[in-house]
Amino acid sequence: MTLAHGQGYLAIPGPSVMPEAVLRAMHRGAPNIYEGELIDLTHGLLPDLKMVAGTAHDAAIYIGNGHAVWEASLANVLSAGDKVLVPVAGSFGLGWSDVAAGRGIETDVVDFGRRGAIDPARVAEALAADKDHKIKAVLAVHVDTSTSAKSDIAAIRVAMDAVGHPALLMADCIASLGCDRFEMDAWGVDVMVAASQKGLMVPPGMAFVFFNDRAQAVRAQQERVSKYWDWVPRANPEFYYQLFCGTAPTHHLYGLRVALDMIKDEGLEAVWRRHEVLARTIWAAGDAWATGGPFELNIPDVAARSHAVTSLRIGKEHGTRLRRWCQDQAGLTLGIGLGMSTQDDPKGDGFFRFGHMGHVNAQMILGMLATVQTGMRVLDIPHGSGALEAAADVIASA
Ligand SMILES: *Cc1c(COP(=O)(O)O)cnc(C)c1O
Repeated sequence: MTLAHGQGYLAIPGPSVMPEAVLRAMHRGAPNIYEGELIDLTHGLLPDLKMVAGTAHDAAIYIGNGHAVWEASLANVLSAGDKVLVPVAGSFGLGWSDVAAGRGIETDVVDFGRRGAIDPARVAEALAADKDHKIKAVLAVHVDTSTSAKSDIAAIRVAMDAVGHPALLMADCIASLGCDRFEMDAWGVDVMVAASQKGLMVPPGMAFVFFNDRAQAVRAQQERVSKYWDWVPRANPEFYYQLFCGTAPTHHLYGLRVALDMIKDEGLEAVWRRHEVLARTIWAAGDAWATGGPFELNIPDVAARSHAVTSLRIGKEHGTRLRRWCQDQAGLTLGIGLGMSTQDDPKGDGFFRFGHMGHVNAQMILGMLATVQTGMRVLDIPHGSGALEAAADVIASA
């Protein structure tokens, strides 16, 4: 007997839970890609995407995942031999840096470890030392999905301006868009990348690059930009196929339409607030468990915690066992401990993650926490008491 049958919860940080309404919108025959509904629908997506990103500037849509827009963003404003500064607070910063290195870009990585956010003061220091402005861009991940550290992107811009450095500020909001507050224009971000399968609640396969006039001016000076990644025809297409450099991601577009309508109906501020309350619910439970056992939230500083994903430490003998029990016995799939391996825990068994991005609500989070507590009890993993009461208190007072 297992109690895993029934509606599962895929509580991993992407792909996230997909709303039935999104799936229903995608369940249809292929549409006409030459005229009519799909073309109008696509043009209507752009203003709403920009609203979610907090920008009045441009957006380009790509068929691809987050890695694709890592590549796309770099391809438009940087060339082989250029230098970038990459402040890193987890695996995803290193991933973007690797893609840059693969394009022949020189990467200057400043590592902030795995337990906190990027320190803007150290970014300023690195830029101030770059007297002849060799650094062309700063690549900063807003929420690093491996450590669950959230960095203060607005403060990074302030730090860059304080030292008068002209580098572009490029942000990866793949895990945070539609979950954590992000305001591209107000925060002075020049280029931002996002993807469909996290806060935007659509299957993986579509991704976005947002860029402002400063970034466009840098783009205009590039000697060449590979055709597929070029954002110019995608942002201002003369023909529909140019928007996608070929066939449109037809079904994703229908799904995204519904997802953006859901965000608009709820209101972006309310979406952010919901994610914040649910995140605090998880932290409250985590703090209680931590009082009597190995359980520990990976990011001690509350201000540096993501509202979309939470990374946890529980000791290498427990993490994988607990994940397995939750999945096999209760229908709850938790995220693996990504990029957290150490010498005495080479597979990162001591870590796991809660994904709480997009289409999630109070009953899902409360159910997840109760399930994890039950798993710890069954598996004899020591833990402090009062976690579920603490979680209920957060929901009750919201
Ligand atoms: C998921 C994620 C990526 C990678 O996206 P893929 O779609 O898996 O290529 C990059 N950056 C962040 C912050 C992410 O959360």
